[in-house]
Amino acid sequence: MKTTKAEQLLSELKIDSPEKIDPVLIANHLNLTVEYEELEGCEASLFSMGDSGSIIVKSSSNPRRKRFSIAHEIGHWIFDKGQVTQCVKSDLHRWIHGNKETSANKFASDLLLPKRMLGNSLHVRKITLDLIEEISEKFDVSITATAIKLVSESDFPACVTFFFGQSRQWIFPNKHVPDARDGFTFVKILQDGTVAKKLQSGKLTSKGGAEENGNLWVNESDAENYTLWEESFKSQYGILTVLSWPKQDQIINFLSKDEGGAESDF
Ligand SMILES: [Zn+2]
Repeated sequence: MKTTKAEQLLSELKIDSPEKIDPVLIANHLNLTVEYEELEGCEASLFSMGDSGSIIVKSSSNPRRKRFSIAHEIGHWIFDKGQVTQCVKSDLHRWIHGNKETSANKFASDLLLPKRMLGNSLHVRKITLDLIEEISEKFDVSITATAIKLVSESDFPACVTFFFGQSRQWIFPNKHVPDARDGFTFVKILQDGTVAKKLQSGKLTSKGGAEENGNLWVNESDAENYTLWEESFKSQYGILTVLSWPKQDQIINFLSKDEGGAESDF
């Protein structure tokens, strides 16, 4: 299995358990100082001066965001050395489009949530909020970063999405989910009957999970014939939803149907 830069760094420093992962110490090891300032309009930045540099982190951010921001800037130090970076909040949510922010986020995720320490959590068919919260506590990482990690590394189809008000802000399906080219797209507006909609309208207060009909989430003619599992969580920023398919064969059926070409529209 290919070792990532973050994994190399962790083994070099003999960091072998979640409580030993301290991004400030890791930064110091790489000749980077970490300072806190009340930054305007930006979460963190990196200044390079030859072989050393400094990371400035917004002092009013919450502790978990600070940890993630420091790890993200270490990623820039490794991949984009010599450049001055100024990262805004949305840079810390870029996971899909391959640019330097995506690489820095992937690095931060590998550093703070190393795959080899996640063990069996990556082999569950149903990703629950209980599991996400347990890992988020153990690794001192946000719920969102944990959900993205579990979904991206899972052995089974899963997707994480974020809604603000009624509208989808972003979505991240993993590699096991059929993609838009297969005619498999996700709704952009919250549908009645979902846990997320109940949270959004105040019928539920903080979080919940339920088995639901596929057509509440997926735009595809056969979606009503299968079910999926929704877990949603409400925060001050919006609603985070994780979808998984405990009955995975339903998605496999979808793919094999598509391979036949009869339903394909491209
Ligand atoms: Zn950045």
